[in-house]
Amino acid sequence: MEVKRLPALSDNYIFVLYDPQQKVAATVDPAEAKPVLKLLNELNAELVAIFNTHHHFDHVGGNRELKKQYPQATVYGSAEDKGRIPHQEVFLKEGDTVTFAGRSGEVFFVPGHTSGHIAYYFPPVNGEDAGELFAGDTMFVGGCGRLFEGTPHQMVESLGKLKNLPDKTRLWCAHEYTLKNYQFAISVEPNNPVVQQRYQQVQQARKEGKATVPSLLEEEKRSNPFLRWEDENLQTVAQSQDPVKTFGHLRSMKDRF
Ligand code: ZN
Ligand code: FE
Repeated sequence: MEVKRLPALSDNYIFVLYDPQQKVAATVDPAEAKPVLKLLNELNAELVAIFNTHHHFDHVGGNRELKKQYPQATVYGSAEDKGRIPHQEVFLKEGDTVTFAGRSGEVFFVPGHTSGHIAYYFPPVNGEDAGELFAGDTMFVGGCGRLFEGTPHQMVESLGKLKNLPDKTRLWCAHEYTLKNYQFAISVEPNNPVVQQRYQQVQQARKEGKATVPSLLEEEKRSNPFLRWEDENLQTVAQSQDPVKTFGHLRSMKDRF
């Protein structure tokens, strides 16, 4: 299974999963249909699945047009998003499994950004080095999603589930927010050498016009402030030893950043 990354709208990424043997493809969070249709055409692949992480328009905006062109494609989303995702046919819950081209993906219920948000994780198979995590707007490179429909408590639980996945997991998040995220991270921890180094790498990559997605989960565990609620530095900033309060404090700082 190959993963292709397509830039869309102002700062979204759409992902296309592609199996070259079977010539089939799936898409994760199609913000718009056009770039997906173009790629399917180039690959001469048939679209068999649309995996949505949550109901926001910049994640489901392409569903209608894609379904029109590929009526046989199955549209997946969260059970909690019933009525909010165009053409949704499969209503997923924590622990459910999805399949694509003989591969199984695990579904995680990760509310916080929205009340129904889910993530899809495809573990590595036969000799692959890493699994693929499609986290939508829950975990970003160096950041996390805003709490539109959830609480810090929910988000800590949700991010905690994703944090438990293997270090080598590739994190495919739905936005290129990384530079802004590390501008925030360095403002919170100006003396943290890990964050300093990461901030430099990210600045360099963006200067060269390179995407920062995917990143590795081990990198996120080291340098993403929104996964480090047990960290003394960050607990000092938040003036709390409580993980949820520490996370919540950082999240509201970021909202005002
Ligand atoms: Zn969103
Ligand atoms: Fe989004």
